[in-house]
Amino acid sequence: MSIGKLAFYNETDFERSVLDFVNKYSTLGLINDLPLNKYFFLDDKIVLKDYNYIGNSDLTTTVDSKKYFKLFFPTCYDNQIKELINEVTKLTETPAMEKHILSDVNKLLAGSNLYCEPLDMFIQYAKYLYSLLNNISNEDNYNIDELLKQFEINNIKMSLSRKDTLTVEFQITCLKQYIDYYFAKTVAKDINLLKICKFCNKAFLAVNPKAEYHTPQCKNKANVYKNRAKNK
Ligand SMILES: [Zn+2]
Repeated sequence: MSIGKLAFYNETDFERSVLDFVNKYSTLGLINDLPLNKYFFLDDKIVLKDYNYIGNSDLTTTVDSKKYFKLFFPTCYDNQIKELINEVTKLTETPAMEKHILSDVNKLLAGSNLYCEPLDMFIQYAKYLYSLLNNISNEDNYNIDELLKQFEINNIKMSLSRKDTLTVEFQITCLKQYIDYYFAKTVAKDINLLKICKFCNKAFLAVNPKAEYHTPQCKNKANVYKNRAKNK
């Protein structure tokens, strides 16, 4: 969110923030999140879901497989990419439980040390989340249903299990899917606790639903400004 804020206000040092984020957590795993077919590496042309940051802003986009791989493996030569595709293809040709196939595929792709996530896509995504939150904060009647449509997660694996009651479990494949889910779930609650500080514009998770500032310091500073404005 702080990366989104920096990008939203066109501040300049977000490259460092992105690096810090990736070092602390991981890459978003965009290579696995965007294609509609989770076995996209078997296709010559890959169809990407809505909101894919590559082509159309809110519609599907079809890209050539080689171009798609080149985007995430910019330092690889064509033959290295071909080899990589061969390797993941081999994984799917060996019979195994699907969840194991996909996690091995992830390890080979997003887990590779040659894997790169385009900075502009990362920033677009962060900016997008921040601007959504900004809209929600500024509009009383924000249409949450419309917003939730933008967070449909494709290729999610569902399994049922029975402990005390029947429960549904979802297997999420990459960090981006987790962030999407967490963001959508948080802002869609009756009382949204994910807010933007009215003083410094930082996104924060409030404890008190009425909180407007992310720290007491911000609240104090805001009051000082208010008083100064009054006394002029
Ligand atoms: Zn603040």
